[in-house]
Amino acid sequence: MKLQPRLSPSILARKMLCPGYISAPFNEKDRFKLQALHSMTMVKVIARHIKLGYRLIEIERRGSGYIIDLLFEAILSARKRLVEVKSSNKMREVYKIQAALYAQRIAADEVAVSNREIDEVLTSEFVQEIQRRAELTHRVLANDPVRAAATFTPHLDICYTCANPSCPFLPRPSQSAASS
Ligand code: SF4
Repeated sequence: MKLQPRLSPSILARKMLCPGYISAPFNEKDRFKLQALHSMTMVKVIARHIKLGYRLIEIERRGSGYIIDLLFEAILSARKRLVEVKSSNKMREVYKIQAALYAQRIAADEVAVSNREIDEVLTSEFVQEIQRRAELTHRVLANDPVRAAATFTPHLDICYTCANPSCPFLPRPSQSAASS
């Protein structure tokens, strides 16, 4: 069996929730607004971690189609923490899945999703389970892409940023909103 090229963690996380997901394009205004919000949240997350006894060791590590936001090291224990930063107030499941997928790409002792207010550290069991499910999703997408594209499993975390015109669950344009 020939596997498709690896999807970015952002897209794969959404395909794991709904194989039919197709990412809606951003307009420039939304993109700029999201980048500004994300940058402000990054500053807050860095400041909070420094207060908690971490030092920042890497920022925005770029890979093929993805960016790992922050990597910290605890000053006392030397444990490394990978942090996925989200400007949303809501800690969505899709963000945790995306963050867990980054654990395959960088050596870290723990993975967290952070917003302006909190840092949610993922359990190692969750990270392992997500990586197992990611392999299954890759196989489903590779084995029968046509069927996968027509498999619709609505999820509140992703339908609002989807653009699959074949899906009966696609929100009307007025309900769509930019992803964070
Ligand atoms: S709108 Fe349809 S295809 Fe898109 S994520 Fe929701 S259920 Fe899946």
